[in-house]
Amino acid sequence: MSQSFEHEQTAALAAVRQAARLCQSVRRGIRPEVLDKKDKSPVTVADFGSQALVCRALLAAFPDDPVIAEEDSAELGEPANAEILDRVLAHVRDGGGDPSLADATADQVRGWIDRGATAGYRDRFWTIDPIDGTKGFLRNEQYAVALALVVDGQVVVGALACPNLAERGVVFTAVRGGGAFAMPLDEAGSTPEPIGVNAADDPGSTRFCESVESGHSAHGDAAAIAGKLGISAPPIRMDSQAKYGVVARGQADIYLRMPTRADYREKIWDHAAGAILIEEAGGTVTDITGRALEFRHGRELTVNRGVVASNGRIHDRVLRAIADLGLMPPP
Ligand code: AMP
Ligand code: MG
Repeated sequence: MSQSFEHEQTAALAAVRQAARLCQSVRRGIRPEVLDKKDKSPVTVADFGSQALVCRALLAAFPDDPVIAEEDSAELGEPANAEILDRVLAHVRDGGGDPSLADATADQVRGWIDRGATAGYRDRFWTIDPIDGTKGFLRNEQYAVALALVVDGQVVVGALACPNLAERGVVFTAVRGGGAFAMPLDEAGSTPEPIGVNAADDPGSTRFCESVESGHSAHGDAAAIAGKLGISAPPIRMDSQAKYGVVARGQADIYLRMPTRADYREKIWDHAAGAILIEEAGGTVTDITGRALEFRHGRELTVNRGVVASNGRIHDRVLRAIADLGLMPPP
């Protein structure tokens, strides 16, 4: 594919960086006693604020592009949530230092959020996860702001900001046919470094990663697959699409997302940005049956079950282990 999507990639990177700064600022404001009270409102504030900023950036750069995003503003409009809306607005106005946001209104913020309300498939659309890995955000572990452009059912641009990865945070990006890159989150002017998957093809020497949450990915199934492949290293557990980044840059070889329920369908915003990173870094991404992820069914990966991402060389062996263990879903 020769289309460059340079303008799209630049806009996407700026958008996820700005949204990540908002998330970091919300995170810095969380006092430990708030977390002790199991108050989930910081993640709500960051979720809405992040989506507002990314949608606003897309609206400015590509006013006609539809957006499929995780959140909508209905809940924010309820009187009981007036205080949350105030906090979202304050963070958006702060905007990671963007002076043009200082006069933003609550109605504008809600309008930006609802730019993400597209539900059905389009020939060209963006998909946003404003905070992927909300549990990681609250624990101050891994989380991500994920943005991808899908054209004719294929992810063509991905931008993934991981504020807590490495010392300074990392932003990953890829354009179809153009390779995958990583750079520090905080330095907009920094040179993107090309990244690539690990060359390991002896399964025994590989490492795999999976969700922290056993409700999102079946840890027992992954352990059985690891056993079958002779993998001795313990799993790397982390929240969010940071897992895709870790495999794309060769720090792990396999990302397993084993279904925990027969009726769950993966959401497109949980995978679009991450999947193009791994493919452009030389790896392979399928579902657990070996089928390509299909981003042409609206908000969900309707025809897929779970996800297997890998360095490519060991992909078939992972899929065979899943089949041999009888972990394939019924047709
Ligand atoms: P992770 O951080 O990798 O555990 O993934 C977080 C994402 O898991 C969230 O954005 C949810 O959309 C998604 N999720 C929620 N429930 C499930 C489930 N039962 N199976 C798989 N993913 C889920
Ligand atoms: Mg998510």
